[in-house]
Amino acid sequence: MLQHLIKSFLRPKEIRAIFNLKYEEAAKKKPYSSKNISTISRLEKKEFCYAILHKVSRSFASVIQQLPEEVRDVICVFYLVLRGLDSIEDDMSIPREEKRKLLTNFYEKNFDREWHLNQVGDGEGYRLLLERYEHVSFFFNCLEPRFQEVITDICLEMGQGMSQYLDREITTIDDYNLYCHYVAGLVGVGLTRIFALSGLEKEDLSNDPELSNSMGLFLQKTNIIRDIHEDLGQGRTFWPAEVWNKYTDQQEQLLAQPVSDQSLFCLNHLVTEALRHSTDCLEYLSKIRNLQIFKFCAIPQVMAIATLNEIYNNPWVFKKNVKIRKGLAARLIMETCSIDDVRSVFKEMAMNIFKKISIGDPNCEETVSQLSLIIHSESSQRLTAPSANHVVKSFSTT
Ligand code: CA
Repeated sequence: MLQHLIKSFLRPKEIRAIFNLKYEEAAKKKPYSSKNISTISRLEKKEFCYAILHKVSRSFASVIQQLPEEVRDVICVFYLVLRGLDSIEDDMSIPREEKRKLLTNFYEKNFDREWHLNQVGDGEGYRLLLERYEHVSFFFNCLEPRFQEVITDICLEMGQGMSQYLDREITTIDDYNLYCHYVAGLVGVGLTRIFALSGLEKEDLSNDPELSNSMGLFLQKTNIIRDIHEDLGQGRTFWPAEVWNKYTDQQEQLLAQPVSDQSLFCLNHLVTEALRHSTDCLEYLSKIRNLQIFKFCAIPQVMAIATLNEIYNNPWVFKKNVKIRKGLAARLIMETCSIDDVRSVFKEMAMNIFKKISIGDPNCEETVSQLSLIIHSESSQRLTAPSANHVVKSFSTT
């Protein structure tokens, strides 16, 4: 905790947020967070599910637990089912055809009260989730059929999409968008259907699946850009060749020459491309009515734009996993309560990115135009509009 406080030394708002968040977490006394793996493995059914949720994703587990009762269990199961599927996709030790079969048939396993899978998944939490999957299917079968239907639809479509990508690389931007749709956009689509079905949100929230899709794509692309060092190190690649080919013949060169213009321009190109989704995200969030659902949807989005700001033009991305300061994360969690809060964070981050644009960057104009869209996303709160000319001027005079 001390190092996080030191990093936020000149930011009193962040220091306050770190303490408030600690206090809030302690006050909630999360019943599952302290359990270790061997204790969890002895739990059953619903209890097992909530406990394993904490093991596979601490950040999601706490936001899921704050959701209204009407959707909490459904989203817990939805999340675990998709985690199970993702663990299979990520396990590089499964032979390809076996993996294909598992991915495409996975949706059926939720109806099988005994099915489980041993020795699959990276990390003990993921392994245990699949080893004791019968508890997830038990919980799944306790849900109302209309919710089971949403989970089944998404699981089927995602599994088929993942299996398609076993034989295909992410070459074009279209491939990149389609892959991100399968692994993340569909999560947005499914969550939206769940919110609407529960009656907590208006039915028309699910009328525009493109907006829900953008919510997932914005998060997924942020992770893909941030994780380049880790992914390439493990022999995986998600950056579309159509983009990196403009800057280098071999993707590994980006890691080898982190401070070169070409590496940074390539990184900035992808950040700019991801920023295209931000106005859709703001529109989606402006339609949410329930406060808990709003926070559940909005917090990951403000974290994503803060991450894009952190990684824009940052050579460290090619050397390590760059993260936002804990103090900033705490501030974003504590301060995200309304669409105006979200808009103000998006604008703050857009202005920060704007200041880092360099004149030689081939995408400089496109970056400026994406940032302007964010900054002008609401007419009542006009900030000074940066224009491409302004960048050219400010850089040519220095
Ligand atoms: Ca995956």
